[in-house]
Amino acid sequence: MSNQVRTRFAPSPTGFMHLGGLRTALYGYLFAKKNNGKFILRIEDTDQERFVEGATEVIYDTLRGCGMDWDEGPDVGGDYGPYIQSERKATYLPYAKQLVESGHAYYCFCTKCELDERRAAAEARGEVFKYDKHCLKLSKEEVQAKLDAGTPYVIRQNAPTTGETSYDDLVFGHMTFPNDTLDDMILIKQDGMPTYNFANVIDDHLMGITHVMRGLEYISSTPKYNLLYDAFGWEIPQYIHMAPVMRDATHKLSKRDGDAYYSDYVEKGYLTEALINYLALVGWNPGNDREFFTMDELVEAFSVDRLSKSPGIFDVDKLTWFNAEYIRKLSPEKYLELATPWFDQALAGKGIDYKRLAELMQTRTEVFNRVPDMVRFLGELPAYDVEMFTNKKAKTNPEVAKAALEMLRPVIEGIEDWTETTIHDVLMAKIAESGMKNATALWPLRIAISGQMSTPGGAIEIAWLLGKDECLRRMDDGLAKLSC
Ligand code: GLU
Repeated sequence: MSNQVRTRFAPSPTGFMHLGGLRTALYGYLFAKKNNGKFILRIEDTDQERFVEGATEVIYDTLRGCGMDWDEGPDVGGDYGPYIQSERKATYLPYAKQLVESGHAYYCFCTKCELDERRAAAEARGEVFKYDKHCLKLSKEEVQAKLDAGTPYVIRQNAPTTGETSYDDLVFGHMTFPNDTLDDMILIKQDGMPTYNFANVIDDHLMGITHVMRGLEYISSTPKYNLLYDAFGWEIPQYIHMAPVMRDATHKLSKRDGDAYYSDYVEKGYLTEALINYLALVGWNPGNDREFFTMDELVEAFSVDRLSKSPGIFDVDKLTWFNAEYIRKLSPEKYLELATPWFDQALAGKGIDYKRLAELMQTRTEVFNRVPDMVRFLGELPAYDVEMFTNKKAKTNPEVAKAALEMLRPVIEGIEDWTETTIHDVLMAKIAESGMKNATALWPLRIAISGQMSTPGGAIEIAWLLGKDECLRRMDDGLAKLSC
């Protein structure tokens, strides 16, 4: 085996990109890059029933969008292709036959009905059904006769029933499994396709994979894979199994709750960089308090010995905090570009100056999908309660508010040069002259023109965004409310 580290991400194209899968890809990418190795993408599509149209493109787009370019893979090529398992179909059967020859595998002709019967009988005896090596007892001649007759078959691994198999996992340490717990798993299915269990071994070997990084669900099958490597006389790769990504201690991330897939977060308006940064920390820590990492910095900091053995809890609130920090660091131009479609959802055609709005919104944006509700009041004055004019701190009540609005209305009406500076100067001069406190006059103005207690920007910025006519119209609305 070469000395160069070679990791692979081997997704099955069954739908969208699960966060757990994305994190597996990320750790595989980081580990390869950290060690000046190669990151390989292999599409595992031998289970045709689970195949979902377009899912391969989702994998490509997601990995590229997240900055995880692969060195070898379906569309970029490489010395070990093809990198799509269905295109390697012819590769697997000869290897399975080689195992049959050496006694490590055998043809099995049991039908589904026969297996169901035996499973039911085992369950009735209170036993867990394990294939009973029934077809292993067939003589060479019997097997040949069935093959010649075209009897459908699968090829099964002939797992030992005594002794134990052990190996060292780089995260979970020394693992030992008694062989009598291993079942004779199917290597080649009736349709001639390999199972995942077989294809992953063949391909990891043929592609020179040095470190197999994958989900914990495969850890108990690993002894069976190792028996296959041994049967072929191949070097066993290093294993790095990873604990799952969970919502909390007892719940998985779920499709139904809309929190499982990468696309769920993109649609909600999370930034990819924030998501990757946070995801890296769900199941790995840098060994210090540092929280912010670019992809290159993650490569630099990554090490397998700080991967966690316990499930990583994906805390959406924490992600949201990361996201807000990343949004804050965007250039104003980039923020405007990203925010525009979200502004449009609430304000399309309303003539609001998005550039100024973006300046007011950037530090207040945690996730983009919250933006439309925060800015909607600019397009249409929401219904609001007259009680909102009362504010203890600003020393206002409906009576004071009415007086303030009556005082400010003609001032605003008289402004020719509609800029924030002029609005500010003119209002401040009038308020100072009246002897009112600033807040006492500006609180009612802000309520009247926004209909909300909290707004991006204060009364002056909102007034400017609305324009003079709309501002006056809203003040009149407020005065009418206060006169009832
Ligand atoms: N195709 C498997 C999956 O999507 C990959 C497991 C592995 O990395 O070996 O779960």
